[in-house]
Amino acid sequence: MVASTNCPSCGSAVEFSIGTSLVAVCESCQSLVGRGDGALERYGKVSDIAPTRTPLRLGLRGRHKGATFEITGRTQLQHAAGGIWDEWYLAFQGGKRWGWLSEAQGRLHLTFRQPPVTEEMEIPASHEEWELGQMITIPRAGGMTAVEISKAAVSAVEGELPFVPELGQSVAFVDLHGNGQKFSTIDYSETPPVLFGGCEVTLDQLGLADDPLVVEAAAQVESQAVQCPSCAAPLTIQDPGASRRIACQYCGALHSVDDGNLKFLEELGKPKRKPKIPLGSEGELQGISFRVIGFLKRSMRYLERVYSWSEYLLWSKGRSYYWLVENDGHWSLGKAISGGEISGGSKSNVSLANEIHCGGVQYRLFDSYKATVDEVIGEFYWLVEKGETVDAADYVKPPFMLSREISEDIRGKSRFSASGKHGEINFTKLEYINASDVGAGFGLNELNFVDRFSFEKPAPNQPFTMGQIYVPWAAMMLGVFFLSLIAAVMGDPHVAGRTMWAWFALSVPGVITLMLHLAFERGRWSESDYCPEWLQASE
Ligand SMILES: [Zn+2]
Ligand SMILES: [Zn+2]
Repeated sequence: MVASTNCPSCGSAVEFSIGTSLVAVCESCQSLVGRGDGALERYGKVSDIAPTRTPLRLGLRGRHKGATFEITGRTQLQHAAGGIWDEWYLAFQGGKRWGWLSEAQGRLHLTFRQPPVTEEMEIPASHEEWELGQMITIPRAGGMTAVEISKAAVSAVEGELPFVPELGQSVAFVDLHGNGQKFSTIDYSETPPVLFGGCEVTLDQLGLADDPLVVEAAAQVESQAVQCPSCAAPLTIQDPGASRRIACQYCGALHSVDDGNLKFLEELGKPKRKPKIPLGSEGELQGISFRVIGFLKRSMRYLERVYSWSEYLLWSKGRSYYWLVENDGHWSLGKAISGGEISGGSKSNVSLANEIHCGGVQYRLFDSYKATVDEVIGEFYWLVEKGETVDAADYVKPPFMLSREISEDIRGKSRFSASGKHGEINFTKLEYINASDVGAGFGLNELNFVDRFSFEKPAPNQPFTMGQIYVPWAAMMLGVFFLSLIAAVMGDPHVAGRTMWAWFALSVPGVITLMLHLAFERGRWSESDYCPEWLQASE
């Protein structure tokens, strides 16, 4: 049932197609038109929606857990840290129920408003009382970890919404992740706060992946050629919808990227060293196609010494980002994972744990440190700055590493930071990858990509590849042992004696491998804050 009315500002027809929507944007004059108590109110003009590389749009119809929905409205939120994200409003069954679908960096989270927050729920009354990594139990969702504490303001609106947005008003929120892709937001715009609960979803799960409009939009992800405003060198913005910063690889000028337009921010100085993999390189690693879009040099300080490493921001056309990290000739490929996949043992705060679990596997703390950005070139989806620091911790289970980074309050520069807390906790799961595979994957000179192996100084997450002999070796030992046993029982001392000798001879390679393995593990953990008990005992 469509209710049509005239815009109080310009007189054009404004349609409310959903019975439960509260406001709609007039398509002629961009006024926000509300319907309260049957009377039409005008809430003022809204600004244009900023172009983002979203495959979604108003009018799309999909499904979630058997219920059908239509996307009827959208708001754009300006994040305290500078980015913009889209929030879509899904009218289920003609508006009987509403879903909130937020979309940021290509990830979708669908939530529904939950019953009112009560005191028994132990949800802090203010966002300031939260700590990043803090875990709480939310009814029906279970244990959830706080991964972001921040503020955002609605900057633009289109279509029909189930609530009246307060344009420009910044609102505090806390995002939480739980296992099985569970996701919650606590919205502090009201007292008590409002709880939204749901999960991460994909276009496919929403029945939208095959929609012709979505397919068409996804194909439109194109790079954009621009000129460096400082040195006029030709630059390419690989992901214009999402990138917020670009640092010129020729002159070192840092620019903000606003819908493909560059604005000079700061002179970072010419990059000292060229990255081993040039910006714009295309390649394939682990069966995924990538393009290198950004490069960071970061460092940490330990006992007056500076240790630095390189990080490549890779972009895959599936609209997601990966990291390729090079430290001392060792390479790892990583991707952000949800904080909900991490649990911190008995601790109520995952960011303080010495051991964390992910996917049923225990990871040990290897090192915790402050990481500082020293060099920046290329483009980034956040407001990267030279000198920016994060509190980092690496947890290890070779060949994997879980890297936890906490960034708090972008050094007082964010426009909301004066009025409260802001911070994010991010987890990246990295897997060790042979240098030769990196070189081959990007078709680069193999002399720069030589596999490194040292018993004294392995990489924290480097696997002990010689350990592959253990299983066949043990099987062989067992086989020969039974053979000598059978020979002994049959009463043939000659054969029994010989198999005995074969057994001893065969044990040699296994024992040597075990000793090398011990040396390798000692080398690994001697670099670490943490020393396993069996290693302490052997020293
Ligand atoms: Zn109007
Ligand atoms: Zn330049």
